[in-house]
Amino acid sequence: MIRESIKILSFLLLAHAGLYTSLLKAQKIQDSSIYSRIDTIKKNIEASQYEEAERQCKKIFSLKTSVPDEIAFYYGYILYKQNKLNSAKQWLEKYLSFKVKNSYLAALSVQTLDSIACKTLGYIEYVDSCSYCKTNPSFYDCPACDATGNEICPACQGKGVTRSASYHNLGQSAYNTCKKCNGSKIINCSSCNGMKKKKTICPICYDKKRITLKKNCPK
Ligand SMILES: [Zn+2]
Ligand SMILES: [Zn+2]
Ligand SMILES: [Zn+2]
Repeated sequence: MIRESIKILSFLLLAHAGLYTSLLKAQKIQDSSIYSRIDTIKKNIEASQYEEAERQCKKIFSLKTSVPDEIAFYYGYILYKQNKLNSAKQWLEKYLSFKVKNSYLAALSVQTLDSIACKTLGYIEYVDSCSYCKTNPSFYDCPACDATGNEICPACQGKGVTRSASYHNLGQSAYNTCKKCNGSKIINCSSCNGMKKKKTICPICYDKKRITLKKNCPK
């Protein structure tokens, strides 16, 4: 029994050690090999050797090891330079979706995506907050309460009191003030929250508060 547990324990330790060394190995590849490969890619880009840069990127991808996020930018940029616009767009958008990114590369990604949009669509799309519903809020009378702002209390059906259950068997009834409406028989209209009016849906942003706008491409 003891021998068996020692066996399992040593197996676990070995497995753990193996995992640890493979992690270290992956780290090593990243530090020495991947970064020097990225340097080569940068030099290729500077020398406008985009085909060679693409080949280098594909080599890195074939290593099937974790690679730095910035490779998504370089690959997208290289594809853009070779007029492979759809794939370029995907990689640059992928780079922009990363939480942590280099601000210079992010700005360059946006700029490159803009030129892709100009080449493919002829205009640049951008997202802005909707100013229409901020400056032109429009309201209509609440139909649920006829613009009174009230509704009959559903807990006491508008009686203002509720019957206490404990006296039922004695044939007697005790009445308590309704807790929901405090005896007032009415509560705020649940549709308009007592505001009497409801806001119309913004015809521009459909209440999403954000809209996609177009701007002209630089000539
Ligand atoms: Zn009530
Ligand atoms: Zn109402
Ligand atoms: Zn709006």
